[in-house]
Amino acid sequence: MRLVQGKGCILWFTGLSGSGKTTISMGVEHELKARNCLVELLDGDVIRKHLCKELGYSKQDRDTNVRRIGFVANLLSRNGVVAITAAISPYRATRDEVRRMTENFIEVYVNAPLEVCEARDVKGLYAMARSGKIQGFTGIDDPYEEPLNPEIVCYTAQETVEESVAKVINYLERLGCVLNLSEAVSLDSEIVC
Ligand code: ADP
Repeated sequence: MRLVQGKGCILWFTGLSGSGKTTISMGVEHELKARNCLVELLDGDVIRKHLCKELGYSKQDRDTNVRRIGFVANLLSRNGVVAITAAISPYRATRDEVRRMTENFIEVYVNAPLEVCEARDVKGLYAMARSGKIQGFTGIDDPYEEPLNPEIVCYTAQETVEESVAKVINYLERLGCVLNLSEAVSLDSEIVC
């Protein structure tokens, strides 16, 4: 069997806590794995635990976190991997810096109003931020700078998870990072990616 590989790329999810980055990125990862693609999900929490253990949430530390994720994602993507990142990455200039130093950077703005994210409060962090137990929380007392020209926007207060995932997969197919299913079938028994 021959490996037919698409282009590597960086799928850079950004958005408020609770907007849906983890949920959509896991859905995309699952779909790409089912199609035998080379894919690696760099989850924000996992990266902070291992690669960025010493970093806190000051602007400087958040920027360092994003730059390190960008560096690793770039190593992966230039070797044909779809590198998926799902950190809040709140500052526009730092995301744009990563965009400039990488190839095939796809910014996915996971867009949900603050009220929606707060009502979801998946990790209970908004309640802690509101009660002052944590400071410098993105969207509450630290800024989130929306992307100005993202390649993809997922409106997760209106779309289902499946719709958001499909939007991303369709974009990857159009870019040639993953073959669409009809192309894949026509390649018969080859592994397609
Ligand atoms: P984040 O990683 O951005 O902090 P999570 O993915 O952990 O956010 O949580 C988002 C929550 O929103 C989950 O409980 C998820 O089920 C819910 N949700 C509702 N609609 C969507 C959607 N279209 N896309 C992603 N998440 C959604």
